[in-house]
Amino acid sequence: MKQQYKSYEEGCAFLEACVEKYPDLISIESIGTTWEGRPIMLATISRHVAYAKLKPALLYTGTAHAREWIGHELAIEFIDHILSNYNNNPEILETLSQNTLYIVPCLNPDGFEYSRKHFSFWRKNRRDNGDGTFGVDLNRNFEIGYRKSTNTSSNVYGGPHPFSEPETLAIKNFVDEHENITIALDYHSQGNVFFPAHKFNHESEIEGTDMNTLCANMNYHIHKVTGRHYGINRGKPPTKLISGSGREYYYSKGIIAIVVEVGTRNIPDYMQNMSESVNENIPALLYALGESKNYGKTAPKRVDNFQIDEFSKNDCRLIWEYEENQNIYFEIYRNLNNKKACNQSSLIGITCNKHFVDENLESGTMYFYYIRAVDKLSKIRSAFAPKVKLKTLLGEYEFSRTIFPHAGDVGYVAEKSPEANHGHFGVNSLKVGVSQGRGTSYGVINFDLRGIPKDAIILEAKISLYPLNRVSAKIEKYGEWSLSIIDQASVSNIRDFDQIHNAKHIKTLGTSIPSEKLTQGIWSHWDCNDFEKKMLQKELKTGKMILKLAGPTKLPRGRDSQIMVFDLGYGNEGGGLHYRPAIDIKYTMPSTKVAVELSNSMTIAPDEIVEESMACGFNKDDEKIYAYMSFDLSSLPNPDEVVIKDAWIQVENTSTVKKKVDIRYNVEFVDLEEFSYQDIKDRDRIEFIGYEVSSAELGTKREHNFIFDHYSRLALEERQRKGEEAKFIIRPTSVLSRDHVINWGHEGKTAAKLMVKYIKRRKLPLPSPINVKTTVENKLIKVSWDKVEDDDLRGYYVIRNRWHTPKNPFDGVKLYAGLDNYTFDNFGSTSMDKYFAVFTYDGVPNYSQPTVVSYKAK
Ligand SMILES: [Zn+2]
Repeated sequence: MKQQYKSYEEGCAFLEACVEKYPDLISIESIGTTWEGRPIMLATISRHVAYAKLKPALLYTGTAHAREWIGHELAIEFIDHILSNYNNNPEILETLSQNTLYIVPCLNPDGFEYSRKHFSFWRKNRRDNGDGTFGVDLNRNFEIGYRKSTNTSSNVYGGPHPFSEPETLAIKNFVDEHENITIALDYHSQGNVFFPAHKFNHESEIEGTDMNTLCANMNYHIHKVTGRHYGINRGKPPTKLISGSGREYYYSKGIIAIVVEVGTRNIPDYMQNMSESVNENIPALLYALGESKNYGKTAPKRVDNFQIDEFSKNDCRLIWEYEENQNIYFEIYRNLNNKKACNQSSLIGITCNKHFVDENLESGTMYFYYIRAVDKLSKIRSAFAPKVKLKTLLGEYEFSRTIFPHAGDVGYVAEKSPEANHGHFGVNSLKVGVSQGRGTSYGVINFDLRGIPKDAIILEAKISLYPLNRVSAKIEKYGEWSLSIIDQASVSNIRDFDQIHNAKHIKTLGTSIPSEKLTQGIWSHWDCNDFEKKMLQKELKTGKMILKLAGPTKLPRGRDSQIMVFDLGYGNEGGGLHYRPAIDIKYTMPSTKVAVELSNSMTIAPDEIVEESMACGFNKDDEKIYAYMSFDLSSLPNPDEVVIKDAWIQVENTSTVKKKVDIRYNVEFVDLEEFSYQDIKDRDRIEFIGYEVSSAELGTKREHNFIFDHYSRLALEERQRKGEEAKFIIRPTSVLSRDHVINWGHEGKTAAKLMVKYIKRRKLPLPSPINVKTTVENKLIKVSWDKVEDDDLRGYYVIRNRWHTPKNPFDGVKLYAGLDNYTFDNFGSTSMDKYFAVFTYDGVPNYSQPTVVSYKAK
């Protein structure tokens, strides 16, 4: 298979041929000479290449690690693609008109040739370390976070000092001299994952949204070609920082810098896998090249203070700040999940205003919003403002819970380590799939459901797992991972491999996720369908649900591992990030039905008012006769603690009209103090209740239900809250009619009733916390507040946001949820300004308005 790949020499010859054929589009230069005397070739590609430096540029570097051949191969194929299609593809023409590509197909020519000809698995360059060992890991030899070591035989030996190597020095000098570089992509293998740059802390960076979105948009193009989803993983600071990497050096120069790990093996079967990897990355690279201009000097400036102004269960108003500029409009994007593309597929608004209202949202649902400013003439876009996260309010009958498993209830069991399986719970990440060492390995998650009432009615359920690492999933497009509810009766010990292996499956949730779509660094979600929700509802009775996560169980010949690692948030493998498995459940409760007896009834005719009677129709002079009824609402529960789900007036007609006449009757909610005929005629109607009933219908059935709509239910609650009666009239209508009167039941069994169905649920949030303060203790920021005294308080919710005031409890990094009146900003930096927001919440939960404090670093 090795002969499929081009040698370094062939790559250089290719570049020279390109210069000959397309002299106006490409120029080449050697930016340095390796220890073994090879030139380090860099190509510059742009329309009118002599002026390349005047345009914003993307820097491509490949094969800094000798064995990661994809970088060199992809570079050559990409150059070939853009040069040979330049004349017939307007997208390429436009991209090269506005942007420049600097491309180093192979940053480590000596190591690459050594890997090709002698030792496939070689990683470093070929420096003679003088002690019998060779090579420096070029991606540990840059200066940011450089770590000195004398372990020269190590695969990650960083060299005697930063930039000690001709390869790293060459690219450093080039980057330092080319301030037009705005994006740097460093191609490695393997993992099918993007690793954007980060700084040495746990705080979000202003470019964080840009980097994640650039990856997500590249992912969109990759997916179009092969259906593959790459992971997007911003690394695991601060414990597992990559020291001295090129990416962090570029980022320190203000460049958007990303490592792209391609494929699942360093040197795969070319025809089967490498050609796919190359093909899927070409449109993604072309897209990224076109983004260079949006980060250059002529790009509009980033939007400031993009944030939520207000939100409800179905809509949200976003606001932002920007200097007055007639030449700018704004693009707003919305996604349902994090790290999804911001392009035409998610563009929901274009406006010149500094506000935007998004309507028709789902209740209790998470949304992610993004914004860019766009120059009307050049169409050059700004960088992204930091994203805004929103969870809409719950619907009026809805409750929600996010349940995490207890530490001891989540882990994995492997076939070949029966004694060790006990120790795989609560500490290690979930390792699921098959390997030669472990045999088959299953994840097990036991969710404690006792926080949800046994008789709850599940409306929505979503299970989320965080794929942390796919380095041990080494086989391209092989196997799928599925989640199943297992029968609790068939398992007495969740730490026993045989029991889990043989457990009876009740239901596999949704569809399985194939290996190429399990994306490291992006949550995987399983949404339950109606049948699965019923299964879950059954499990509520037992108070728990056991899930088994299974991957492939067999390996193809010659392969040693197909294991996916999921974070469980308790171990140290997450490096301080805690992406715990979770189940999000939205539910409602069965309602209670009560009947409110009639308190007063009257018949109101032009000439008389008759109490204890309910007649309605037309007198001989064709004047209307109204029936009146009222209900005392004091027997209903406190309206602040319940939600009326359904209400209707149940009336029976005790007489019918003999002749065929077209009279219709409807019920009105009214506001009446006096009861003269004139008062009724001049009445204020509040709402019509339900639809009208016709004379004909009175003959076919006796009982009639006039059903309240949403506004009528609110009016009913309003009466109740004010301690007033609810008053109604039955009103007749007819085109031509006289002398027809109907009697309605007003006493005994047939008496009219107000029927109400309600569920117990707090409507309004608790008060916001007061006296929120920040102090610094033991090098950590401590956030404290005064306790709110209320029996309905379930806890305080604390988040932080570096960029804007968070109005929504999900618009930031969660620090705490619980009943203490303080928390620490663990992992956070004390030397950066940021906002902390503290909310109270009840059992629904309704979140209060936040109390926000702005922390200013000293
Ligand atoms: Zn690498």
